[in-house]
Formats: sequence, structure tokens, C-alpha cells
Amino acid sequence: MVRVGLAMLQGARHEHIEALHGAALELGVSVEVVELRRGDQVDGNLDALVLPGGESTAMRKASESEALLPALFSWMDQHPNRPVLGTCAGAILLASPGGEKEPYIATSVSRNAWGRQRQSFEALLSVDLEVPDGSVSEPHVAQADRFNHRPLPVSPIDGSSEGEAFHGVFIRAPRFESSSVQCEAIVHLDTEVVGVLDGARMALTFHPELTTDRRFHRWLLARADD
Ligand code: GLN
Repeated sequence: MVRVGLAMLQGARHEHIEALHGAALELGVSVEVVELRRGDQVDGNLDALVLPGGESTAMRKASESEALLPALFSWMDQHPNRPVLGTCAGAILLASPGGEKEPYIATSVSRNAWGRQRQSFEALLSVDLEVPDGSVSEPHVAQADRFNHRPLPVSPIDGSSEGEAFHGVFIRAPRFESSSVQCEAIVHLDTEVVGVLDGARMALTFHPELTTDRRFHRWLLARADD
């Protein structure tokens, strides 16, 4: 059983829950997704962490009352080898945790650097990451949660089946400052780095949870299960 903590501050949380269950099914492992809303829920029993995309300023504000972000950062300090997946705003938090904290990934990031909301876009990406295969006869069907919230049904676009290009969804996305990337570049959009891996921490500027390609979520579960 892999226990994955998910920061429920704001943003694309429910889609990550679905993606984690889908990836677990593909790998044949069992997963428990722990929805984290307060700092005191973050404990040493978590095997991995997901920081979703959304709006990083809103997340920092939402964290103030229950001190979730400081607890997540201190969990990362205590467990440097446990995997963390930060997507979009989550990548921003990893690259600039704020205050005196050192970045959790060795790169700097510029918020909203592709332009405004309407400049959001989708594009095929190349991925250079070893991930265990996932094969299921029945694809995982997204369930509505207790608030009747159902993940967006985004299917792979042509040319983005597994092992090939990845369907990247960029929503008012940040950009890594290419010359500042001092860790492994694992995802590219043409020549631009849009995904990095620094030890056990992965930061992606796009939203993998909005597609049905679970490569990055499988990586997280497999790494946590090591
Ligand atoms: N623009 C957001 C921010 O600055 C990130 C966008 C996203 O997570 N989709 O936090």
C-alpha cells in the first residue's frame, strides 16, 4: 500500500486523485490518497506527496490558517528521498517555497510567463523518463466525488499514446528559466524544458492529471514503492 499525501489547498486536486487511482490500477499496486488540509495531518507515514496546479498565491494564502505548506516543506526536509510531484503552481512552490527556504528543485521559475489565461495552450511534449509500463484491460473511469465533482474528460490527442509524445496542457503556466536548470531536464516542448527531476522531486509546468496518460503518476507510485 502506497500512501500519497495530496495538498488540498486549492486547484486541480480531484483530478490528481483520479490519476493516482488510475496509475495504481495500471501498476497493480494499492494506493491510499490522503487529503491534506491542515499541517497536523502531515506525518511520517506518507510515502509520497502531490502538489497540484492552480494558483500559487491563493495556495499560500489558503495555507495561512492551518499551516499546511510549512508542514509539507518540513516533511520534504525530513524525507528527501520520498518522491514529490509538483505540477504547475505546485512546481512554482517547489522552485520558490518562500521565506528563507531553499528551493526544492534546482531551477528558477517565472510565473505566468507564457502570457495571460487566454494564451493557455496544449502541445505535444517529449519525455525522457524511465517509467514502469501500465497495462490494464479496463481503463479507469473517472468517478464523481462526494461533491459531484468529476475530473475533466481529456483524452490523449493523436500521437500521444504511451511511449510517445505526451499531451501537455498548459494553463497560465509558469516557465523554467532554461539557463537556470541545474537538475535533470526530463520533459521538453521543442527545445524548452517544461519538466525537471531533482533527486526525488519532480516539477512539471503543465497539468498531467488532465490527461489519461498516467506516466508521471506511475513514476511517483513506483518510486514511492521502491
Ligand atoms: N498561474 C498560476 C500561478 O502563478 C499557475 C497556473 C497553474 O497552476 N495552472 O500560480
